[in-house]
This record gives sequence, structure tokens and C-alpha cells, in this order.
Amino acid sequence: AAEVAMYRVKQDGRNGLRFFAPEMQAHTQRSLELATGLKDAAHNAELFLVYQPQRSLGHGAPDSGPLRGAEALLRWRHPKWGLVSPAEFIPIAEQSGAISAIDFWVVEQAARQIRAWDAAGLPPLVIAVNLSATQFGRPQLVEELLHIVRRVDVPPQRIEVELTEAVALKYPELAETTIAQLHEAGFKVALDDFGTGYSSMSYLKRYAIDKLKIDQSFVKDLSAQHSDLAIVTAIIKMAHSLGISTIAEGVETAEQATQLQACGCDEIQGYWYSRPLEPAAFEAFVKGHAPDQTTACV
Ligand code: C2E
Ligand code: MG
Ligand code: MG
Ligand code: MG
Repeated sequence: AAEVAMYRVKQDGRNGLRFFAPEMQAHTQRSLELATGLKDAAHNAELFLVYQPQRSLGHGAPDSGPLRGAEALLRWRHPKWGLVSPAEFIPIAEQSGAISAIDFWVVEQAARQIRAWDAAGLPPLVIAVNLSATQFGRPQLVEELLHIVRRVDVPPQRIEVELTEAVALKYPELAETTIAQLHEAGFKVALDDFGTGYSSMSYLKRYAIDKLKIDQSFVKDLSAQHSDLAIVTAIIKMAHSLGISTIAEGVETAEQATQLQACGCDEIQGYWYSRPLEPAAFEAFVKGHAPDQTTACV
């Protein structure tokens, strides 16, 4: 609805607005304000990253595995609208073209955080960053990413690039080439939201990926839905046979963690282990003095 509304506004000018219901106008107004605000959001220090820990499952108790890394997740504190979800503003940034600058800002920020945590004595973590689908059309993408990590002086091996299964399905050739280049440059590559795109599993053979992120929609009904258990088990077996490791997203309960461990899943990420944390809270979490998560998380 927001997309349609924005399109009409552009076509018809101000007069176009009178065709819309009041709540639609409000939505349009908000979308426009978000699109405008996004251009300067990074400069105005309104953007920040939170980090969600990822835990290895291993063979012991599911709540005893070591920390493996973290995913950097973008947050926007808008001066008028408050905290805006990336689910809302990333599509707007993709439409307006602001996404490139934002995604590169995220990579640089994550690289700087790696340096800061290294200096603070944390174990050498791999930080995952999300790259928008639109970035895969950039011919110089991998060089641009290399340029950033070199400038910050972080080896590319410390950065894991997440692209969604949807991107890989939409642009199979482009995805294959880009993934190969990322791999060659030393970046780790993860396929995000896996299982939502109805891709043939044999597709995976084409991609030089390191990790599969099993979408949270499978995890949600893991214990209730027998078919999901079978699907997840099949995904994990197939990934392992191709030398790809697996992580499940959106793990919220001990029961889900136990089930995933039984399915052979390598790692988990989700509220059960930890919510995404601001850097100071993350550091405390890693050092074993987790503060009250209800105040530390975003
Ligand atoms: P994603 O990459 O699949 O990230 C996982 C989402 O699941 C995050 O939502 C995370 O906060 C949420 N999550 C984590 N654990 C749980 C759980 O146990 N239960 C539930 N229900 N949710 C959980 P978030 O942070 O709102 O991000 C939404 C999406 O926005 C991301 O999905 C990603 O596609 C996109 N995004 C976030 N940061 C960036 C970024 O820096 N660049 C780009 N291009 N996209 C980003
Ligand atoms: Mg992700
Ligand atoms: Mg995901
Ligand atoms: Mg997602």
C-alpha cells in the first residue's frame, strides 16, 4: 500500500493525496519522511548497530555451547518517529537508493567494532552483516567491500556477508559470480532466510557459501509440526554433505534448541540465547556479566 501511495503522489503531485483515506495519508507522510530522513540518518548519528550472539550447539547441553559470532542488525532512532524497524525502512532505502551508502556504513561500523572488541580482549569474533538485494547489481561490490575492511585494517575473514535466498533465486548468475568473488576475497558468505524461497536444494552446489541460515518460520513450529522437523533435518543433512554449516534463526525456547541439536544443526541464534545487544551490553554478555537484558536489548 505504501509503495502504491508513494507512486501516486509522485505522479499526481499534491492533489493525488485527496484520493486516499486519512490513515493512508498518514502512512504516505511517514514513508516520505522516512525516505527523506534516511539520506542523512548515518551522518546525523541516528543509525546504530546491535549485535545478536550466535551459539554453537555441539553435543553437550544445548545451553552450554560456546559463542561463535554475532549478526549486526541495523537500528534507526528517528527524531520524530522514534525507533523504526529495519523491516520498514530497508525497503524504503532500497527504493530511494539510500541503501548502498547505508549498507557500506554498516560494514565499516561492524569492522570498527571488530577492532574495538579485539582491543578490549574479546575472542576473535566473526561478525555477520546483511547486504541488500540491490547491492548485488553493483559490478564493483566486492572491491568496495574490500576497500572498507582494508581501510579499517580488519581481515575479510572476520566479516560474514549475508545475502537472502530470495536474491540468489532472483539473480542466480549474478549471485553465483558475486558469491564466488566474495569467497575469493576472503569474506565468509551465509545464505539468509533459507527455506522461504522454494529453491531446489541442488541449487546450493552452485554457490560457494559457508553457512546456511534456516529461516525462523521453520523453527517456530518445530515441535508442533512434524513436517517441519523432517524438512529441517533434510536441509541440514544436505548442507553438511556439501560442506556447508548450518545455523537456525529465531530460536526462542529450550525445546527448539534441543530439537535443532537432534537434527544436527551446528549453531543457533535467537532470543533464547540472547536478544540483539548494543555494543556495551554485548561485551558484558561475552565477558559473562550479562546485564538485565530487558533494558539492554533493542
Ligand atoms: P534477518 O537478517 O533475517 O535478521 C533476523 C531478524 O530476526 C532480526 O530482525 C532479529 O532481530 C530477529 N530475531 C532474532 N532472534 C529472534 C527470535 O528469537 N524471535 C524472533 N521473532 N525474531 C528474532 P530485525 O533486526 O528487525 O531485522 C529484520 C530484517 O531487516 C533482517 O532480517 C534483515 O533482512 C534486515 N536488516 C537488518 N539489518 C540490516 C542491514 O544492516 N542491512 C540490510 N540490508 N538489511 C538489514
Ligand atoms: Mg540476516
Ligand atoms: Mg534471516
Ligand atoms: Mg529475515
